[in-house]
Amino acid sequence: MEMKYIDAWLGNVKTRMKGWAAGRRTCLCAVALLAMTAAQAMTTGEQEALAQWKAGTTVSQKAVTEFGLNRCFTATMIPDGVWQRMQGKTYKPNPYIGRNDLRHIRVLHWGTDNKIHLGEMVCNKLIAQKLVGIFRKLYDAHYVIGRMVLPDEYDADDEQQMRANNTSSFCYRVVAGSKTLSKHARGLAVDINTLYNPYVKKRADGSLYVQPSTARAYADRTKNFPCKIDKTDLCYRLFIEQGFKWGGSWRTVKDYQHFEY
Ligand SMILES: [Zn+2]
Repeated sequence: MEMKYIDAWLGNVKTRMKGWAAGRRTCLCAVALLAMTAAQAMTTGEQEALAQWKAGTTVSQKAVTEFGLNRCFTATMIPDGVWQRMQGKTYKPNPYIGRNDLRHIRVLHWGTDNKIHLGEMVCNKLIAQKLVGIFRKLYDAHYVIGRMVLPDEYDADDEQQMRANNTSSFCYRVVAGSKTLSKHARGLAVDINTLYNPYVKKRADGSLYVQPSTARAYADRTKNFPCKIDKTDLCYRLFIEQGFKWGGSWRTVKDYQHFEY
């Protein structure tokens, strides 16, 4: 009799322990699920931005690591979506340069907000790999580039994109005030941090013509301010190393944002 009672009691204890273990498993599963959902909620937007390469978006270091750093620095043929965006804006039908001469580059850059931004640029195929290499070095050095989206976002209006401090390359246009094709029209020139590195020309009367017009404060190159390009600057050194010429070295006008190949 006594043994029966003990068996019954043990049976009860076992059942309760099983129940407790099952409950605990359910609890653990719920916690794991919640954690996974939270992790997804943190990165889904970023992963989507990276997968679709929504230029201008900021992403975390974690999202970049998950996506793969090397996948964030590429040069490809112009994707259909990009080509469509360019029509009638940076691209106009012309006999000199076509879709196959151009490349779409995707890079990461550090913004003035100290965050990682997705950048994109259209340039000539001749310099695409050079640019990817330069922007990778700038990224690794935490060099600040304010914004890097296609000028098409500003309807290819140069003054507007410069006011927005946008960095870009290709835009089919003539040199201001002439019929000469700009190096940008072939995607062989790059303008960097355009608000802080304006185009400056001394008029005959000695007054200064500054482009963008909102960059007057940055026309004085004896001053110190962030994103200023001069000959000690890393960006300057990398472009020169790759065979580019700097508009800041020109004699008649100074185009501090401009590097051309
Ligand atoms: Zn330029």
